[in-house]
Amino acid sequence: MANSDCIFCKIIKGEIPSTRVYEDDICIAFNDLHPQAPRHILIIPREHFDSLDRVDEGRKEMLGHLLVTGARIARDLGFSERGYRVVINTNEDGGQTVFHLHVHLLAGRQFIFPPG
Ligand code: 5GP
Ligand code: ZN
Repeated sequence: MANSDCIFCKIIKGEIPSTRVYEDDICIAFNDLHPQAPRHILIIPREHFDSLDRVDEGRKEMLGHLLVTGARIARDLGFSERGYRVVINTNEDGGQTVFHLHVHLLAGRQFIFPPG
């Protein structure tokens, strides 16, 4: 169910513009508005979940789909061999700012670990 106040639900509906790089029945992927790396893509489910913390055991297939889709986008856009980072910021301490579950796919530079 779409959340009418959610900016990512608005992006899914096309009410807020975005540059889509991939879409299917379960998810869409688009460029982050404020990229933190040369490639910074967000992969989001079409269904609204506030965060990873709100995804129940019955949604393993959807969660797996987001990750497999990230790997596929990385291959299709040609950065899988050099590598990339996948991040799911969750709730306040996790640094989440948009409360619609999303996977960050970052590439095009070397990342340090642990992140800040
Ligand atoms: P979070 O901090 O919740 O993990 O990530 C939210 C991400 O959404 C941030 O990287 C931010 O730049 C991105 N973002 C916020 N608003 C918009 C928007 O309207 N369009 C796009 N493309 N990205 C957005
Ligand atoms: Zn939403």
